Amino acid sequence: MIPKADVHLHQEWSPRLDRVLARRAGRAPFDWSAWRGDLLAVVPPGMARLQRLSQVFPAPAAADDDEAFVERVADTLRESAEGGSIYTEVRFGNDLVLRPGFMELFRRAEGLVRAEHPVFYAEAIAAVAMYAEPERLAAVLDGCAARAADGLGGVDLLYVPYATEANWRQGALVVEQAAEAGLGVTVHAGEFSTANIAAVAQLDGVSRIGHATQAWRDPWLLDLLAERAVTVECCLSCNVFLGAVTRLGDHPLRRFREHGIKVALGTDNPVQIGTTIGEEYAAAAQLGLSEAALLDLTRAGVRAGFTSGERRAELLAYLDAYANASAPVSSRL
Ligand SMILES: [Zn+2]
Repeated sequence: MIPKADVHLHQEWSPRLDRVLARRAGRAPFDWSAWRGDLLAVVPPGMARLQRLSQVFPAPAAADDDEAFVERVADTLRESAEGGSIYTEVRFGNDLVLRPGFMELFRRAEGLVRAEHPVFYAEAIAAVAMYAEPERLAAVLDGCAARAADGLGGVDLLYVPYATEANWRQGALVVEQAAEAGLGVTVHAGEFSTANIAAVAQLDGVSRIGHATQAWRDPWLLDLLAERAVTVECCLSCNVFLGAVTRLGDHPLRRFREHGIKVALGTDNPVQIGTTIGEEYAAAAQLGLSEAALLDLTRAGVRAGFTSGERRAELLAYLDAYANASAPVSSRL
């Protein structure tokens, strides 16, 4: 199985928790495939569909105690490792990240999965809502900076307006503060329009952009992403499901790569969308990527991952060993 990396994965706290509670109770979890069918039939593609992702809560927040948290994070990581991931990053909401002992609980979940999959590392990042009240945002950023010492890997910035140009004056300060704290910074941008891609790509400290799917519409944006060496996190199934592209074959992933843009893969909201990292790599193969190109996606994910230098070096060495062992004989002569 080709080693994979998932660098864009939301925690989906309630859908994951529902799976844990369902398993404990011996009942079936919420039926997301029926939900998907309804949504595709009724809701138009674009922002309207995106907003539906955060509207269904099959499990209550009150049930998310420490034990359930470890179990649901382990569920997320185990699914990823079983799909072949060697590096998985999970994005958490701010209340959780600020909770005492957050990183310790996360590492406990990671440890459970590492016991089953020794070549696997996971990191946690915080999804920061920039539209929060200023005092709240300041508290969240301070909290994230403090958690960096515990191993929090980075932040993912979410803001409004999302599909039209936002004001990045304040965003630049947020990026600066996060980078100073040693946190990696990724930003959601360019999923449904070209808005914000250029502004975000030009911020020092931003090394990754979640989606940037619409960058194909503007050659200058493609040049900019390549020049700034920003890694684009492509979530193929999610882009199709929410309508960022009409069909998989229209996805610009190959075009990005041909333009010299670094690309890695993500599952985004795998429970709700109904995907796994294995299926995302299969989708990339369907777009015509060779096994070597798929391995490049993993390398890009590990290189751009918000993890320690030590872990990165170990994972890259593993990928090199994998590539050498699986290279055709003729190329080894
Ligand atoms: Zn996302």
